[in-house]
Amino acid sequence: TSALKIEGLRKTYGNGFEALKGISLDVAEGDFFALLGPNGAGKSTTIGIICSLVKKTAGRVGIFDYNIDQQPALAKKMLGVVPQEFNFSQFEKVFDIVVNQAGYYGMPRHDAKKAAEKYLVKLGLWDKKDTASRNLSGGMKRRLMIARALVHEPKLLILDEPTAGVDIELRRTMWSFLQEINEAGTTIILTTHYLEEAESLCRNVAIIDQGNLVENTSIKSLLQQL
Ligand code: ADP
Ligand code: ADP
Repeated sequence: TSALKIEGLRKTYGNGFEALKGISLDVAEGDFFALLGPNGAGKSTTIGIICSLVKKTAGRVGIFDYNIDQQPALAKKMLGVVPQEFNFSQFEKVFDIVVNQAGYYGMPRHDAKKAAEKYLVKLGLWDKKDTASRNLSGGMKRRLMIARALVHEPKLLILDEPTAGVDIELRRTMWSFLQEINEAGTTIILTTHYLEEAESLCRNVAIIDQGNLVENTSIKSLLQQL
């Protein structure tokens, strides 16, 4: 099974800039996959399209065989996304942020609360449950975004530069947490411009540069080429 299948993906922004020039990718279920590339390569654009925040110009995207155009609700259910920027309300409390997210997926209130508690505990945020998000440290906000992305137990988790600007200690904690949930069966795709991060975590890798796919291989063979 493919967790993510992208075919001929193109994006031309409103100003005429071609950010993606025809990218195809197939990420197998269970994989831990890195999307590598320099700043401006098109990584965030790709993720934006996968989670329907950015409108594609051409191409097909399937998440566990659900086409994002034809079966958007089912595709979204399969997917959890940790964006690069903190995009929750400053005044909303930690617990409510996660519970409300579960609500978007149609989870009954009682189940949503249970799931929110489970993931806040896992991410070491349970004692902050009544704190307004603006009073969290940067590292806590990252962990909150991960809890929020996991609350509906998606089969595919996508993280956009998850450890950018994160200190070494939290980076290690996040790495081992991600490894744990991957081992438990969640397919993970992350974008990074650190080869070291991909090397520590991932099995397979794609490199994009200026909107083109320039490499798609195992991390092992990529390292042998260097
Ligand atoms: P689309 O073609 O998908 O409708 P637009 O070109 O209308 O996208 O831009 C969407 C938003 O992104 C706008 O608010 C725009 O100001 C902003 N934007 C424009 N250029 C850039 C850029 N180089 N990087 C990031 N954001 C940009
Ligand atoms: P990455 O995540 O790899 O750093 P992005 O997908 O954010 O790359 O950006 C790819 C390219 O598209 C960059 O050159 C960026 O400036 C441009 N870009 C991003 N958003 C917009 C937009 N809304 N309008 C025009 N250009 C954009």
